[in-house]
Amino acid sequence: MRSKYMNQFLSRRTFILIPTMSILKIIFKPIQVFASSLASKEDWNLSKDEWKSRLSPESYYILREEGTERAFSSQLNNEKRKGVFHCAGCNQPLFLSDKKFDSGTGWPSFWDSIQGSVETKVDFKLIVPRTEYHCSRCGGHQGHVFNDGPLPTGKRYCNNGLALRFFPE
Ligand SMILES: [Zn+2]
Repeated sequence: MRSKYMNQFLSRRTFILIPTMSILKIIFKPIQVFASSLASKEDWNLSKDEWKSRLSPESYYILREEGTERAFSSQLNNEKRKGVFHCAGCNQPLFLSDKKFDSGTGWPSFWDSIQGSVETKVDFKLIVPRTEYHCSRCGGHQGHVFNDGPLPTGKRYCNNGLALRFFPE
């Protein structure tokens, strides 16, 4: 009698729990995505030490600690050849050279990214909100995107050269 009661209780509980859990999953999903600046795919969920062994100290600072390199310090700022700019963390292609333009800021700038290759979040490092963007695969910080770029998008992806690797065609 007692176990029958327990069974009924459990099945009722499960009945309530399952839909509740799926609702929670839906609610919490955007938060997980937001927190993905560390890594968005399990394969790329590397520890600090693993990242440090893969990257130069300068690139580690940019990619994993959202650092910013000195303006005009990257050779990629002047890179004008045809090719593809990849994430220096995981090698995912992020930008095509025909979307690159000279913004005069001292950082490699693009008016569009390869579809699905970057994700954004808002940061308040300079108090004024800015839109940070990072590689959608490894979560590595790339730069900030502004709405003062050239047409057709009007976007300016202001990228750290140390976060990129260029492959000429
Ligand atoms: Zn990456």
